[in-house]
Amino acid sequence: MNIKECLLDDENDYPVDTATIGSLIASSGQKHLWAERADAGLNTIDTIVIHYMSASAVSPEDPYGLSRLLKIFCDYGVSAHYLIARDGEVYRLVPEEMKAWHAGPSIMPEPDNRTGVNEFSIGIELVATESSGFTDAQYEALNGLCADIEGRRRKKMVYAGHDMVAGERAVSLGLRKEPKVDPGPLFDWSRLTRIIRIIG
Ligand SMILES: [Zn+2]
Repeated sequence: MNIKECLLDDENDYPVDTATIGSLIASSGQKHLWAERADAGLNTIDTIVIHYMSASAVSPEDPYGLSRLLKIFCDYGVSAHYLIARDGEVYRLVPEEMKAWHAGPSIMPEPDNRTGVNEFSIGIELVATESSGFTDAQYEALNGLCADIEGRRRKKMVYAGHDMVAGERAVSLGLRKEPKVDPGPLFDWSRLTRIIRIIG
């Protein structure tokens, strides 16, 4: 699995506008856009949350530009473990063992009902807009990444959309004000074949 490291920390010199990822994070008084998991035992990670994001709201002329997308994380103080570009390139933004800030106030579907999904999940952002759908390369990369994660962790993961854990149910329970709608109806779950590959 070819994964490009581009960590959301204060040492990352990837350029965004006239600054760098690292300088933006440092100027917000942080060292990185992640936190320790409350229970750092790696076996607590059992869920993968699928999202989409674009920069269309801030730069409609370049909605898929990597530096635009990375700047959004810095500007809003949010993060995800992985970002999958339109061409299928996979970027690691947060170390898996750390807690990324991707799901926000959230609750697992019945009967699980655990809240605070960031604590036990890995967040994957697919670069897309509300109407673009997803590319074949992204589905291929996502399958590869999920197989890679399951293989390394030697366990089957549970898959959820952001809309499944932070949608209308989370709103009706008073956990959050606005429902999340990603990855939405254009994401074809049947193309996530979830191949388990046990290494070693
Ligand atoms: Zn999301």
